[in-house]
Amino acid sequence: MSKNVSELQSAKQFLMINGEKIETTKYASLFSPYSGEEIAQIAMADKEVTQKAIEAAYNAREVMAKMPAYKRAEILEKVVALLIEKADEAAEIITRESAKPIMFSKAEVARTIETYKFAAEEAKRIHGETIPFDAAVGGVGRIGYTVREPIGVIGAITPFNFPMNLVAHKVGPAIASGNTIVLKPASQTPLSALFIAELFSDAGLPAGALNVVTGPGGTVGEAIVEDERVNMVTFTGSPSVGIGIRNKAGLKKTTLELGSNSALIIDKDIEIDQIIDRCIMGAFSNQGQVCISLQRVYAHEEVYEEFVKKFTAATKQLKIGNPFDPETYISALISKGEAERVAGWIEETKGSKANIAAGGKLKDGILEPTIITDAEHNLKVSCQEAFAPVVVVNKVGSVEEAVREVNNSRFGLQAGIYTNSVKNALFASQELHVGGVMINDVPTYRVDQMPYGGVKESGTGREGIKYAVEEMTEMKLIVWNHS
Ligand code: NDP
Repeated sequence: MSKNVSELQSAKQFLMINGEKIETTKYASLFSPYSGEEIAQIAMADKEVTQKAIEAAYNAREVMAKMPAYKRAEILEKVVALLIEKADEAAEIITRESAKPIMFSKAEVARTIETYKFAAEEAKRIHGETIPFDAAVGGVGRIGYTVREPIGVIGAITPFNFPMNLVAHKVGPAIASGNTIVLKPASQTPLSALFIAELFSDAGLPAGALNVVTGPGGTVGEAIVEDERVNMVTFTGSPSVGIGIRNKAGLKKTTLELGSNSALIIDKDIEIDQIIDRCIMGAFSNQGQVCISLQRVYAHEEVYEEFVKKFTAATKQLKIGNPFDPETYISALISKGEAERVAGWIEETKGSKANIAAGGKLKDGILEPTIITDAEHNLKVSCQEAFAPVVVVNKVGSVEEAVREVNNSRFGLQAGIYTNSVKNALFASQELHVGGVMINDVPTYRVDQMPYGGVKESGTGREGIKYAVEEMTEMKLIVWNHS
């Protein structure tokens, strides 16, 4: 561990408001989810302090709205350069606060760098279009075009599972499009957000453009959602909190990136050896705490037995333990409470015809990667979001049946199908009711420029820099009368 990280984490962590580090009256200890040791003291904001951050963002909105595109791009490019320089430190911070195995934290930092790079590039191509006014009788003698203007103050509320890259998916496009932000990171993972805020400050972002407020979701989050000076709320997190935000947001624009119980279909003609590694990554990376984690597999009866056998064997090989060990694949879930919740869901399957093919137990506080076969739809491990290293594998007689099973869900974020049949791939792409269909890959596939978001209880709106910029800007029409 580098000296910088230990210094950062032993110290008290302040809020970042109007370009300054701000003390609060209350602090809370932040503990490592893996070792239980205290890693930092985090400032706890109340409603009044949150309102100060909103005021700072409100006051800075003119400066940001008037900043030329090349300058916004330059700041984002500087953040990219600083993050490349500090990549190891950044990965250590993620692992320390979230217990994400270091190999996945490094991958998250690499993606965060790409996300800010995409934001820097996108800053330079935000534009409207000309409208053919004379296509209408009443439009003759008029010229018109649209422009995209920043929306103003954006309230960004982020979850614990990708504490750096999911912050980037909000801060990157917001800065690219000339907005200001009040960011409320998840209480378990504030260090990544504070680290990034420092990089923005070093990169020359004006004071007040990015404010970070740590503290309880109910207090800080609600103060952001209810404030009239906030023009948009962009939220990534659980469906229950997301729905609550939507209900309180009134006419504010809202983007909600929520959960899912993502599924994969495996057709009969698939070479099983070729897909096991992707299924392992899909189901178990970051302990399954991924919104598009592979939670349900529907395998054709002709390949089902082979898949279960090989997937189980590979799962049993995964190294469990200290997240700082470069070989570790599975470590602790974000909290003891979460581990106990999922252990309860696994326990529920024991009273059914389901069978635990791998894992199923808590070992030294870490949930083993778990495979459950023949799980009925109404079991929690099937129909709710597990957000843990748990995957159910069921047998189906056809792709049509599999598609029906995948769609039998409250959620609809992404789905995948492995098939060599063009007909079945096309059928699945048309019939799956989700935000994204991955042909010949797991539903867990994501790169950061692609449009990303869900249907049903998986949310509304899209991220992926270009698409987030669309959400974060208002279209204005300008019409010239030259007749
Ligand atoms: P939570 O919904 O518990 O928390 C998300 C954020 O909301 C946190 O910052 C939290 O603060 C805050 N919050 C809590 N209560 C309120 C409130 N009343 N008003 C406003 N904000 C509030 O989610 P998790 O952090 O546990 O993240 C896991 C969830 O995120 C999963 O459901 C997962 O699927 C989803 N997710 C979705 C993604 C997508 O892109 N679709 C990507 C990644 C995750 P605090 O921590 O202080 O409680």
